[in-house]
Amino acid sequence: MRNVTVIGSGTMGNGIAHVFAQHNYKVNLVDISQPILDKAIATITKNLDRMLAKGSITEEVKNLTLSNLQCNTDLKSAVSDADLVVEAATENPDIKLKIFQDLDQWCKPETILASNTSSISITKIAAKTKRPEKVIGMHFMNPVPVMKLVEVIRGYSTSDETTGKIMETSKKLNKIPVEANDYPGFVANRILMPMINEAIISLQEGVAGVKEIDTVMKLGMAHPMGPLQLADFIGLDVCLYIMQVLYDGLGKDKYAPCPLLVNMVTAGHLGVKSGNGFYSYSDNSKELVVSSMFAKK
Ligand code: NAD
Repeated sequence: MRNVTVIGSGTMGNGIAHVFAQHNYKVNLVDISQPILDKAIATITKNLDRMLAKGSITEEVKNLTLSNLQCNTDLKSAVSDADLVVEAATENPDIKLKIFQDLDQWCKPETILASNTSSISITKIAAKTKRPEKVIGMHFMNPVPVMKLVEVIRGYSTSDETTGKIMETSKKLNKIPVEANDYPGFVANRILMPMINEAIISLQEGVAGVKEIDTVMKLGMAHPMGPLQLADFIGLDVCLYIMQVLYDGLGKDKYAPCPLLVNMVTAGHLGVKSGNGFYSYSDNSKELVVSSMFAKK
């Protein structure tokens, strides 16, 4: 595989494009408008400069990475030559199912179609194509250039050959791939999101405060970030959406989203991206400040 098309150039897409280009794949990065793509290239350049300053890459690698990247707003022409497509568009089933329907028509018959989805069934996505054996989940972690894991998700019909190629490709990106089957949340979110949900239930029940819950998990379990801070970082709307997928897909009360989480999302308190979640991000200070909603009276 040499030519890779990455669809979506947001948080994950620009990281995925960066990593493929850095490992000498020819990358076509696609999004819905040129200004969005310009911003993605600026982000990749900034991240490469940071790596260069830290001495983790050379100037040649930076230049090679940028020269391997091409941008496109026209999906059809961007995938005509692709050996692998990695879709990292907005987490919306309608958008993704339409993209895979189009990809199936526009890509070469041998092209592998991968999705970076966090929660949508790979089997459902594959069913929109006439090549379900070539459809697979390639779930990178955020931030992509830093995080080692790729969760490789086999849909119901994904072939051994496709899985093998994606495991191999992930290793070529200097990542560690782990194979999982297609059940709601796969492995990462099936375990992470109920933990975050339980931390929010503990806060709701007054077991402990925001800082206390995060400190227990950081110091007691050696987590780099507490679950409430992590929820703010991921986005509380994303956490709620994934809990809903687990609840709907697995049908057990233990996956029911915590009412406090539902209330916070309804009120627009989404974490870092809205400036307020369990912590407040309105000032520019580096210190983590508990939101006034949860400050001790
Ligand atoms: P994002 O909102 O930052 O970026 C999504 C991008 O997709 C946007 O730039 C948008 O313009 C583009 N897009 C939307 N429709 C498109 C279309 N039809 N064609 C081309 N581009 C289109 O989202 P993100 O956080 O990068 O998430 C992308 C995917 O990665 C989602 O499936 C998400 O579940 C998954 N994911 C996210 C994270 C995370 O921490 N953010 C981690 C793992 C997986």
